[in-house]
Formats: sequence, C-alpha cells, structure tokens
Amino acid sequence: MKIAVLPGDGIGTEIVAEAIRVLDTLDLSFEMESALVGGAAYEAHGHPLPESTLKLAKEADAVLFGAVGDWKYDRLERSLRPEQAILGLRKNLGLFANFRPAICYEQLVDASSLKPELIAGLDILIIRELTGDIYFGQPRGRRSAPDGHFPGAEEAFDTMRYSRPEIERIAHVAFQAARKRSKRVTSVDKANVLETFQLWKDVVTEVSQQYPDVELDHMYVDNAAMQLVKAPKKFDVVVTGNMFGDILSDEAAMLTGSIGMLPSASLNASNQGLYEPSHGSAPDIAGKGVANPLATILSAAMMLRFSLNQPEAADRIESAVKHVLAQGLRTADIWSDGTTKVGTREMGDAVVAAITKKTITG
Ligand code: NAD
Repeated sequence: MKIAVLPGDGIGTEIVAEAIRVLDTLDLSFEMESALVGGAAYEAHGHPLPESTLKLAKEADAVLFGAVGDWKYDRLERSLRPEQAILGLRKNLGLFANFRPAICYEQLVDASSLKPELIAGLDILIIRELTGDIYFGQPRGRRSAPDGHFPGAEEAFDTMRYSRPEIERIAHVAFQAARKRSKRVTSVDKANVLETFQLWKDVVTEVSQQYPDVELDHMYVDNAAMQLVKAPKKFDVVVTGNMFGDILSDEAAMLTGSIGMLPSASLNASNQGLYEPSHGSAPDIAGKGVANPLATILSAAMMLRFSLNQPEAADRIESAVKHVLAQGLRTADIWSDGTTKVGTREMGDAVVAAITKKTITG
C-alpha cells in the first residue's frame, strides 16, 4: 500500500503530521512518501504541482493531502496559485467522485447553529461530480457581447455541460454508496430551467432501474438548499453536479458546526483517491499548534476504507475520534464551557492513545 503524503501549506503540515502518527499506530505496513505541493512547492520549484509530485501521486494507491494556499499568493498569475495544485491532481488522476460526509457527533450537537433536535444524529453523504459541469465546460471567456440586453458591451461566459457517460458513472457511485447505507438517494438538479440538468435527471432515473432496492427521489437545487437547513435528517445520499455540489456540500458541512471535523474523499474509476479535510490552510492560525487535526485524521480513515481496503482499521480510527470527543477533549474551534481545550498535537496524542488503549491524560 503506497501513500503519497502531500501536506501543503499553512496548517496542512501540522494536521497531516497527526494523521500520519495515527496511521503509524495501526499494525499495517504502508509505504509513505512525502512531497511538496501548493505554495510550498511554488517556493521550492516555481510550480504548485511539480512533475515529481504529480508522478508520486499517480503511482500511489492513495494521496493524503493537507491544504494549500495563502493570501500572499493571491497576486500570482492564476496558473501558479497554490489552489491550482488541487485542480491539477483532480484532472490528472481523473478524480470524478467527491464524497463529503456530514456527520454530527453527539458531543458536538451544540456547536451547530441549528437547533439540536434538527441535527442530533445527522449522517448524510454528499456525492459531488468533480470533473465536469460549468467549472470545466468550454467555451468560456470574455468578449464583446454579440447580442443580448447590451450588444457590444464586455461580457463573460461559461458553459454548463454534462455527457451521458459522465452522469452514468457518478449515478452508479451514488447508488452503490447508498446500498451500504439506508438505501436512499436524492438527486439534485435544476431540470426545470437547464437542459444539462434535464439530461442529468433522465440519466439518473435510467441508472436507478439497475438498483431496484434503492429509493430515488429528485429535488431542485433551490429546494435542496432550503431542506438542508429545514430538515437535514431527511437526506441520506445526495448526488449532484459539480457546481451545485460545491455549494450544497459546504452548506451541509456547516450544519455540523465545525469545518475542522469534516473529511473528504475524491475517487477515480479504479478507487484511487485523494483524501483531504474539507477546510483550507487556515493561514490565520498556522504555526500556532491550535488547528483541529480531526478532519484530516478522519480523511485518513476514509482512505483506509475506500482506497486501501482496510475497513476495520478505518473503524478503529473513527471509534477513537468518538472516544476522545466523549472524553471532553476539544481544539479551540469546537471548544465550549465544560470541555478541555487541547492543541493539535495533544488531540493527535489522544487519538493515538485511544487506538492503542493507553490511558489518556487530558
Ligand atoms: P479556511 O478553511 O482555511 O479557514 C476558514 C476559517 O476556519 C479560518 O478562521 C480558520 O482558522 C478556520 N479553520 C479552518 N480549518 C481549521 C481547523 N482544522 N481547525 C481550526 N480552525 C480551522 O478558509 P479560508 O480562510 O477561506 O482560506 C485560506 C486559504 O486556504 C486560502 O488560500 C484558500 O484558497 C485556501 N483553501 C484551500 C483549500 C484546499 O486546500 N482544499 C480549501 C479551501 C480554501
């Protein structure tokens, strides 16, 4: 099992270090190799995704990724900005399926801005198509408007498009994921207005015939955004396109209260995957030892489950995380009165201790 470790920038290095300590605690033999990515790679090699880093990622069974970016790179030409590394990895590895679970841990119910009864026990999985849609569709650009309300004015345009095979493969991913859960899929579209999403709806409906044991319903994206805050527990697996998924997965993430708790996985057709926390590089707290490493540790658990075929090891990590939360240990982002505030390293220590069943000191 070969893991490419790409810590990146900001808190990326701190949180990935804790995930590696947790992986090292398991009795599994991994080959792990690290490389620079993002701003750190730009500083050293002049590019956020150097050839050597991409080669390492391609040859690995899985990539454990921290985060990239810093405001100091905001003025760089777009192709050299740290965030381009993620897009480059997605494209080159063909990572078309993004899994974003939003789980509300019993102990963190109060961290949510929604009423506890709405989110207690929440466990939803957003599956976002990651390599198509308006983010990648061509043509795009700026021009002088050939027609419209202001002919001749400067205008910008993008192209929303999905092909049948692109929709089919993400639909299969969603139905198969639902089979391992409570067998319900909600497909989110905007078929009432957009041709692209009428095709989406038609194809998802066709694919659903191959999964008679899974219940499918369809929802317009505006309604889905509303239902996510009104009655989020109604959802189980949600499948949608790249742009709607981008927005809805962040909304779902915030239902749980802390971005520091949320893992993610992006997979290709051969289950090779990139695993990363849902948050960014948090330059405001980088180097202070206060970042929450749990999203990255939980991403490592997803990696064991989806790409490395080690579901029991994944369960051990997830149980250890629940255990430390039950003990009242909290990093600053999830801290509340009556709990014990700990730093990044201590949180990592506690998870390691919970896995090895040593006594944990607060
Ligand atoms: P961010 O997610 O980095 O931070 C948002 C807020 O959440 C900050 O206050 C931060 O301190 C806090 N936060 C984030 N992760 C945390 C953690 N693990 N523990 C405790 N608090 C945490 O988003 P941002 O500030 O908008 O962006 C910062 C940089 O990250 C930008 O350069 C952005 O482009 C980049 N970014 C990268 C990724 C990625 O690598 N996948 C994703 C989003 C943003």
